[in-house]
Amino acid sequence: MFTLIETKPVADDHYLLTLHCDAKESIPGQFINIKVNTSTDPLIRRPFSIFDHDQTTMHIIIRVVGKGTRQIVAMHPGPVDCIGPLGKGFSIVTGKKALLVAGGVGNAPLYYLAKMLKRVHTQVTYIYGARSASDIFMLDSYRELSHTCIVTTDDGSLGMKGNPVFAAKDIVAKHEFDIVYTCGPEIMMKRLSQELSHIPIEASLERYFGCGIGLCSGCAVATINGYRRACIDGPVFDARTVLWDTP
Ligand SMILES: Cc1cc2nc3c(=O)[nH]c(=O)nc-3n(C[C@H](O)[C@H](O)[C@H](O)COP(=O)(O)OP(=O)(O)OC[C@H]3O[C@@H](n4cnc5c(N)ncnc54)[C@H](O)[C@@H]3O)c2cc1C
Repeated sequence: MFTLIETKPVADDHYLLTLHCDAKESIPGQFINIKVNTSTDPLIRRPFSIFDHDQTTMHIIIRVVGKGTRQIVAMHPGPVDCIGPLGKGFSIVTGKKALLVAGGVGNAPLYYLAKMLKRVHTQVTYIYGARSASDIFMLDSYRELSHTCIVTTDDGSLGMKGNPVFAAKDIVAKHEFDIVYTCGPEIMMKRLSQELSHIPIEASLERYFGCGIGLCSGCAVATINGYRRACIDGPVFDARTVLWDTP
């Protein structure tokens, strides 16, 4: 059972939803699948990463991109047809040095990840990538969790001008990291895994989902171990196993 408590804007076209849920535990990188309304339009559920989860309170971030997301952020408080937590999340390493690299709404699952890593004494270096300053949500919360937090924007309106891969390459040249975690546009994650191939990298692949429960294989990901379904074998994958250029 999920109940929507509150929806509030946190950046241009980005909203923070607070939900009450029965599930008391989840793993960063897992997602929930929302049925937007009782009609057939849109027919399929829409997946969203868990932004934060504490006991029975869960938060997600929604960037409005189309019909489904527009309807979700307009919902009134009350029961929501939602399933989850679903999928395979990130591994939580203890007492290490982690580099988190995210682009756009891919920052959402990495907040919860940063929180859990900090809890087990892993030092978090965070690279927050966005197209523009107006797309950046809740930056102070990310800064609070991070040993170092670097912002990059494509248009240079905040932080370093450029994409987060450049910032990641730069910091990896100066500091050692045990693991890299990433979520964002696939082109960004592909380039990151090519540039930092000497470090273990876990990537959350936000592919289009059909059923979201492994039945339709609409979210197939080509890996060195054959095709895997992003919805149940992922969305988090060892980036070094992903065949980024194979459809
Ligand atoms: C595992 C997972 C986690 C996700 N987590 C988040 C999250 O935390 N916050 C968030 O805002 N979004 C997240 N997404 C993306 C989100 O599910 C889609 O944006 C949403 O389903 C779009 O629904 P819509 O009806 O508004 O868009 P539609 O009307 O279906 O499409 C509108 C536009 O968005 C594009 N689009 C739709 N879905 C995707 C997608 N999965 N990837 C890339 N482009 C897409 C379409 O091509 C189209 O241009 C996640 C997706 C996955 C698979």
